[in-house]
Amino acid sequence: MDRAINVTCPALPTYEEYCAEIRPLWESRWLTNMGGKHEELRMGLQRFLGANGVELTTNGHLSLELTLQAMGLAGEVITTPFTFASTTHAIVRCGLKPVFCDIDPVHFTLDASKAESLITEKTAAILPVHVYGNACPVEEIEAVAQKYNLKVVYDAAHAFGVKYKGRGIANYGDASCFSFHATKVFHTIEGGAVAYREEGLGQRLRRLRNFGLDGQGDAGETGGNAKLDEFRAAMGLCNLRHMDENTAGRRKVTERYRERLEGTPGIQLNPVQKGVTPNDAYFPVVFHEKAFGAGRDEVLAALAAQSIYGRRYFYPLTSGLSCYKGRFDPSRTPIAQKISRRVLTLPLYPELPLDTVDMIRNIILSCKK
Ligand SMILES: *Cc1c(COP(=O)(O)O)cnc(C)c1O
Repeated sequence: MDRAINVTCPALPTYEEYCAEIRPLWESRWLTNMGGKHEELRMGLQRFLGANGVELTTNGHLSLELTLQAMGLAGEVITTPFTFASTTHAIVRCGLKPVFCDIDPVHFTLDASKAESLITEKTAAILPVHVYGNACPVEEIEAVAQKYNLKVVYDAAHAFGVKYKGRGIANYGDASCFSFHATKVFHTIEGGAVAYREEGLGQRLRRLRNFGLDGQGDAGETGGNAKLDEFRAAMGLCNLRHMDENTAGRRKVTERYRERLEGTPGIQLNPVQKGVTPNDAYFPVVFHEKAFGAGRDEVLAALAAQSIYGRRYFYPLTSGLSCYKGRFDPSRTPIAQKISRRVLTLPLYPELPLDTVDMIRNIILSCKK
């Protein structure tokens, strides 16, 4: 094969479309600090996500950190280790202690009933992840949070465009943090947003994003810098226009993968969730070696030999990262550990040809011993 197939391929508008979008910046000379493009994107996203309020940030990671800081939390945060390093790092960098809860073996999201058993008098919040765009059990999490008076912050980095029971996923919880990194289904090259329920939180986020400044030159709190500039907001405006066609393209690919792989002994796919409008962000496949006849790493290598690159996403668990050595025990979340050792996300982007999907399926099946 002449060209490598990567796990993802960032969406781009045409060169002309982007140039037209940034042209006014040469006249206004307003390049950052919440200019016109920023406001237009913020409003567009608020509409698209159907959220009460939205604030933009410079990346998804700072969305998480700012939200935890804005809530003024202290103590423990119940969270999942089956996620990207950012989720756990944000908790730790805010001086909070992550308490790892195991995941549901079908959708790989936080197991709400197990979360309840981890609550102590130090628990301040629950931070679940809508992993791969799978919706967390939002109603169960809400019930637990209400019973114990806890904040709920969703890491929604994978969940842009996902709906549950017809409502945008960001309507659940106190806040939902999105990532607009180039590899995500919607992107601003680098960027992020927090969708929030209460305006008070929005106000604090706006201050913390801009050094804690109050507009009169004084800083009432030690904020950082998490502003999204006009050029990246312009990229977001272009990409938002093409969101529906991109999702439709992804849907064709995931449907083909399902058609080709569903029912294969030893291969586990995430089922389509009831009541959920998916965003087709990722296509994770779990290889159960005994039943399938090959392990995840063999499949990864066989694909790589044909210049097709899957990703061990997420491996290792964040509780097993070197920087946390000796602090957490990954074996205390056995389901997460098992899935992490067996899961591979397959190439997925709107332009991925369907016959490449068929070829990927053939390479996967050829791994069986
Ligand atoms: C991408 C991602 C982040 C971090 O977002 P950035 O925009 O890259 O800072 C956080 N959590 C999860 C689950 C992610 O996939």
